[in-house]
Amino acid sequence: MKKKGIFIAAVAFFVLAAVVISDFFYSHNTSADFLAMNTTVSLDVTGFHSKEAVERIKSEIIRLDEKLLSRTKHTAEIYSVNNGKTEISDELKGILEYLKQLEKDSGGAFCTGIAQLTDLWGIGTENKQLPDKEEISAAIKNHEKWQINDNNVILPENVKLDLGAVGKGTACDYAKDILSAHKCKEAVVAVGGSVLLYGSEKYQVGIRNPLGEVNEYCAIIEAAQGCISTSGNYERYFEDENGNRYHHIFDPSTGYPADSGLLSVTVIAESGTASDALSTACFVLGIEKSLALFEKYNADAVFITTDKEIITTFGEFESETITVTNNNYSLGDINE
Ligand code: AMP
Ligand code: MG
Repeated sequence: MKKKGIFIAAVAFFVLAAVVISDFFYSHNTSADFLAMNTTVSLDVTGFHSKEAVERIKSEIIRLDEKLLSRTKHTAEIYSVNNGKTEISDELKGILEYLKQLEKDSGGAFCTGIAQLTDLWGIGTENKQLPDKEEISAAIKNHEKWQINDNNVILPENVKLDLGAVGKGTACDYAKDILSAHKCKEAVVAVGGSVLLYGSEKYQVGIRNPLGEVNEYCAIIEAAQGCISTSGNYERYFEDENGNRYHHIFDPSTGYPADSGLLSVTVIAESGTASDALSTACFVLGIEKSLALFEKYNADAVFITTDKEIITTFGEFESETITVTNNNYSLGDINE
């Protein structure tokens, strides 16, 4: 009897010790902030191998930018493709094929071949301007006709690729793979407007007030792990002398900044590339025309309209919930 008591006590001790030790190891926390992809990246990782994971994520995001996706850095494949090279790596091929499909699914609202238009408007650069109608028409000619053929990209004359609408979400996907390879417990990875939530059951995320300052929120969503990306008309823009705002998300069918009654769109999806690309596409499409995309990509969204209504696709039994925190905004119904 006494032996049995000692045995139970010993087992309990080892179980307790294992819990304490594993908790100690798992609670290693490492953070880092750096610049990449023309934005701020911040990493906050918990896990025994958090230091290695953070180092790898940092070098992977920098590689993704400098070797693959940038259209301004001469070392990147996209830069080379835009300057005449046709052959691409398997890695870039995988990304471009996904985007080609998304272009089709969004009816052309998402458009990778938009670089000429982005450059013409120059929004967010010293060369910002309101271009002539003729220049705009020329810049949107054939932009959807670029093709991938095996490991070759074929660009029509005057068409160049711009992955500015997806790179940050793709970076979140790369980060997720590294976190899981290093068996990390929890992490928040923010790459500009795309944020990866990894590990916990629930996270609270503030949605920026599109009419307020950088750190001002107008709602808080509670979401499970996944990737959250926001596109808004406040990110990069200029105003003319009459106060008309020209922002950086273009409707490829007109060549002008999209005007679908929205101030911002936040998309929550498992894939970062999907959430980032969809937030841009849905900003162009507006609420109604976006709904089929959410079904196809298993995504959810929070729209903020120019009437200051906040409208979500969250169903009654879904895991996400929203709380409006600013009295200037009200919750609207997606069915109205
Ligand atoms: P985001 O902030 O993720 O919505 O991305 C906006 C950036 O994507 C812009 O600065 C452009 O470089 C590019 N872009 C603008 N309009 C589109 C569009 N309709 N489809 C794809 N990329 C776009
Ligand atoms: Mg985007």
